[in-house]
Amino acid sequence: MAAPMTPAEWRAALRAEGVRFTELEGWTSRGRDAATGKIFGPVHGSLNHHTAGRDSLNLIAYRGQGPAVPAPLAHAFLPKTGVLVLVADGRANHAGLAARNSWDAIVAETAIPRPSKASGTVDGNDGLYGIEVENLGDGRDVYTREQYDTLVRYNAAICRHHDWSEGSVAGHLETSVEGKPDPAGPVGGYGLRGRFALTMRQLRADVAERLAHAPSWSPPTTKEDDPMTPQYVNLGLADGYWLEPGAWDDVELTTEWTDETGDHAANSPVFVKGPATFTGSVSLRFEGLPVGKVVQARMAEYDAAGKLKASHPIHEVIGTPGGSFGILPITKRIASGRSMRMRLLNQSGEAVEVVSVVLTALVWEG
Ligand SMILES: [Zn+2]
Repeated sequence: MAAPMTPAEWRAALRAEGVRFTELEGWTSRGRDAATGKIFGPVHGSLNHHTAGRDSLNLIAYRGQGPAVPAPLAHAFLPKTGVLVLVADGRANHAGLAARNSWDAIVAETAIPRPSKASGTVDGNDGLYGIEVENLGDGRDVYTREQYDTLVRYNAAICRHHDWSEGSVAGHLETSVEGKPDPAGPVGGYGLRGRFALTMRQLRADVAERLAHAPSWSPPTTKEDDPMTPQYVNLGLADGYWLEPGAWDDVELTTEWTDETGDHAANSPVFVKGPATFTGSVSLRFEGLPVGKVVQARMAEYDAAGKLKASHPIHEVIGTPGGSFGILPITKRIASGRSMRMRLLNQSGEAVEVVSVVLTALVWEG
């Protein structure tokens, strides 16, 4: 049985954990306790959401979602800046009905199963803190580094205050009996990690790492703390495609694979940006390249305006029976303001299927 944090306990816990935050007017007395006759608490966990919208503070604190779901819609709001806003101290309308099996797992701090309506339901607003993190939830909108860092600190602050483990941290998608999908989406980076997908498994691992340290701890970041550690980039194609003959063509590598530098993710078809040194290889596989005919491959360097500044040496993949394969070494130093792409030129005179392109490199920034 844990009583919800008082305003003074919120402030102390957040400050100790290094959370930057502001307090919305009236937050210490905002809540649905009186209106519903249901007092918030005892508390059992921290439920994480994304807003699926922009500039949602007004909605979350004041407007709500119509008469059926009045505000406040969360205890805290986390915009892209990473500066948390405390919205309400009392009962908030964020969780809806939680599946009994998920709820029980959060209370027991055991692995959370898929929410099953058949297991029964619990009013999640009775005992879960709720945070709304600003993100469109379209799978493309990126949680900023600042946002994710604060999200980890916020969840850790709650857990540390209540002496909970990361097992008390859950996502709405893990409790909802209505199939809510949040929180999800790409994260710009955290600590030494470049871009990655927000999953509850990862968030809990990051909260656990914080809880293993003193609350004043900060994750190391590449530039200041560990400049010699290379970052790993491993990119591939989402799908094969047909390469027409006659013109150099950028390879559109996907974000599906590891991209620790994050250079590729926001700048496709760029796979690395300067200043950096990288070394690795690109493996290529084509179908339909006539025996003895050639597809050329090279790296090409662009400036900030996207203008081609340098084309690097050409490698050739020669058509062989049963499919054509090639491996290119890629090692280069790239200056500040420059970016690198992979390009192909089909010289066979007919369309060739590019079945796979896999780029693997270690990148040292600076
Ligand atoms: Zn939600």
